[in-house]
Amino acid sequence: MANKRDYYEVLGVNKNATDEELKKAYRKLAKKYHPDANPDNKAEAEAKFKEVNEAYENLSDPQKRKMYDQFGHDGPQGFGGGQNGYYSYSTSGFNGFDMGDMGDIGDIFSSIFGGGFGRRSSRQNNGPRKGADIKLDIEITFEEAFSGVNKDINITRSEECSICHGSGAKPGTSKVTCNTCHGTGQIRQVQNTLLGQMQTTRTCSACGGTGKIIQEPCTNCRGKGKVRKQVKINIRIPAGINDNQPVVLENEGELGINGGPKGDVYIVVHLKRHSIYTRKGDNVLCEIPITITQAALGAELEIPLVDGTKEKYKIPEGTQTGAKFVIKNKGFKNVNSNWQGDFIFNVIVQTPKRLTKEQRELLVELAKTMNEQPPIKKRGLFG
Ligand SMILES: [Zn+2]
Ligand SMILES: [Zn+2]
Repeated sequence: MANKRDYYEVLGVNKNATDEELKKAYRKLAKKYHPDANPDNKAEAEAKFKEVNEAYENLSDPQKRKMYDQFGHDGPQGFGGGQNGYYSYSTSGFNGFDMGDMGDIGDIFSSIFGGGFGRRSSRQNNGPRKGADIKLDIEITFEEAFSGVNKDINITRSEECSICHGSGAKPGTSKVTCNTCHGTGQIRQVQNTLLGQMQTTRTCSACGGTGKIIQEPCTNCRGKGKVRKQVKINIRIPAGINDNQPVVLENEGELGINGGPKGDVYIVVHLKRHSIYTRKGDNVLCEIPITITQAALGAELEIPLVDGTKEKYKIPEGTQTGAKFVIKNKGFKNVNSNWQGDFIFNVIVQTPKRLTKEQRELLVELAKTMNEQPPIKKRGLFG
């Protein structure tokens, strides 16, 4: 603990800093060192992030700040809280502590350990970890979703450096054991907090948690062992895929860490709107316009299906506008089963807006037989 940095120094503020100044400095640094914002330097960022959090946790609490100003890092053990609990987050979390009752500290811990990188801050730093997933969006047409489609997609991801084969060391040279952590990749320390003594394990910043130091870095990857590359992958989007449904390519994501498996690629599929069809579950919905005579007399319609074929369908005489008809099993295939949805159409009776002289006369005659008053004005009834 003797080598622990001064909290004020960590936050880059002077000893008389106001709460507002502390908060501002903390926000800025927490953002800067958030591991998610430092994908290339995660281990080191994480260590800094924790350091910043710890400094703020102590300085933002007036009582703790007073203690710190008086005693520094070596303050009296277990001050204030009265609990002499000992806990370590390096194994199974906060045993025996209810995070809900920890108030501010709980918040701070959840902000340190939550959010997706939490448990990685444990002993596993040196062990194999799965690489990050990559998320992509792709837009396809209604018809492509209906029948399935192959698409080329471009993914930019890290790949093993072909010169050093991932070691990061210049070919012909080798890595040496880190002196700071003696090859463990971790620095352990016991810290006195409000809640008692706490053992923390942080990533060794000298070697970034790898336990090894590269003496002569590979020039191709500058010692990282990996390079960014754009790759083209042909993917199959299955028939029946729905809007916002992902297609997952396993092991095509970012490189794993310390020999861990690669991450996955999630391709989220978006369906373009179609000018005549809509989708509801696995069913296809559509409106089909018909004439007043087709509605009155019945008719054989040609229904355009999504796959481009036409289906003959007889509607009965006396069909009302809005009537619903179902063509079974002509909807979307269900992605997860053999089930297939239906093609459902509503007929919309179109009242003619323009009539020939002959049509008009016929309709007038018709109207007379239907106990209706013939039109008085020239375009009265159908105009
Ligand atoms: Zn290399
Ligand atoms: Zn080290």
